[in-house]
Amino acid sequence: MEQTKFVITEKDMPTAWYNVQADLPEPLPPILHPGTKEPTILPPPLFPAALNEQEFSTERWIEIPEEVQSILRLYRPTILHRAHRLEKALDTPAKIFYKYEGTSPAGSHKLNTAVAQAYYGKQAGAKRLVTETGAGQWGSALSMACSFLGLECKVYMVKVSYNQKPYRRILMETFGAQVLASPSTDTQVGRNILEKDPNSSGSLGIAISEAVEDAFGRDDSFYNLGSVLNHVLMHQTVIGLETKKQFEMAGECPDIIVGCVGGGSNFAGLILPYIPDKLGGKNVQIIAVEPTACPSITKGPLAWDYGDVAGMAPIARMYTVGHSFVPPPVHAGGLRYHGMAPVVSHLAKLKLIEARAEHQIAIFNSAVTFAKAEGIIPAPEPSHAIKVVIDEANKCKESGEKKTILLGLSGHGHFDLSAYEEYLAGNLQDYEFPTEKMQEALKELPQVEV
Ligand SMILES: *Cc1c(COP(=O)(O)O)cnc(C)c1O
Repeated sequence: MEQTKFVITEKDMPTAWYNVQADLPEPLPPILHPGTKEPTILPPPLFPAALNEQEFSTERWIEIPEEVQSILRLYRPTILHRAHRLEKALDTPAKIFYKYEGTSPAGSHKLNTAVAQAYYGKQAGAKRLVTETGAGQWGSALSMACSFLGLECKVYMVKVSYNQKPYRRILMETFGAQVLASPSTDTQVGRNILEKDPNSSGSLGIAISEAVEDAFGRDDSFYNLGSVLNHVLMHQTVIGLETKKQFEMAGECPDIIVGCVGGGSNFAGLILPYIPDKLGGKNVQIIAVEPTACPSITKGPLAWDYGDVAGMAPIARMYTVGHSFVPPPVHAGGLRYHGMAPVVSHLAKLKLIEARAEHQIAIFNSAVTFAKAEGIIPAPEPSHAIKVVIDEANKCKESGEKKTILLGLSGHGHFDLSAYEEYLAGNLQDYEFPTEKMQEALKELPQVEV
């Protein structure tokens, strides 16, 4: 019998997060204050001290608090699958494995950090967490985490998504969160925008500004981010740590690891535990996949840029298409961030990982091939990674090589069926990357002398 599932039990779950900062051959550059442009920490009124400590720690292992572990055990360890049916459908000699995070109750990997962030917020005395959400995945995860830990949760949801994607909103509300269409009248930023343009459909930048203003104005609240920051990526390493144990069970080792990158957190969670092996000389190819509509690593420069659209967040050294760049409206909403996590950018600079960009129609072709073979409808974001896995499996078919390929399947697509509907009706379009718009946006990078 061919084994299809590699299942470890609760007792094999990692009890510490892996912090790659302990092993980087060259340390990460600092983050800079957006005003003074001097090295800074995460703004203390917005983030608990424990998360600030993790952000800059160079300890290799950071213990996962027991209460966080007990919540993670609701849905972890997640399964490592062998995609026998996909291999047959592709007629490839490659072995394809996928680590599936869609079985988290929030439907994606984002709950892994939401639980940790809610825990540290509560430890530091918060009664309430505030955040923004675009399409709703991060808001869903944080709402759920807050309900587990008995915290209030307020989510500023970009108005266009609020109106177009009611199911994510209802999910958040079911978990007790207060969800507002952003721009809202609850903040000065929101009121100013609505005064000028009562019909504003909002943007992620506006929603961030609202959430930050809200949390800043109250001493019982923290602000939370679902990707990009070092501590967020570290919380996701449970994914890769489990995967390594499961590969040991399978008696295999990945030759190629592929994940999608928006801010970089699910990818980092899967691949960071493999970085020490790679530094030790192991031959593993690691590929980050982004949309051609927002290709920070493949098209952008490695530069200093603001973390947010408004230029109020700290400045980080990262691959970026410019904080004022507005990407075309592809369905993979989670991959439309202008920059790339500093950790992932640093690994790309050191050539420890490589990157590719894929078009929207091609990724849906791959998503449907995957769904028909494996029975899981993937979210549009990880479908970018599926495209590259299929390309690599096809290369093996040509060369006869029996490579072992690992896919990071970050979430399911049950809330993205309207995108599938458009695809199936033949109404999706590809967007050529607007190079001139990026050049314009890059003129607005902050001037930093380092
Ligand atoms: C948010 C999201 C992403 C993109 O965010 P990263 O921080 O790059 O992981 C990818 N996949 C899913 C399912 C998401 O919800």
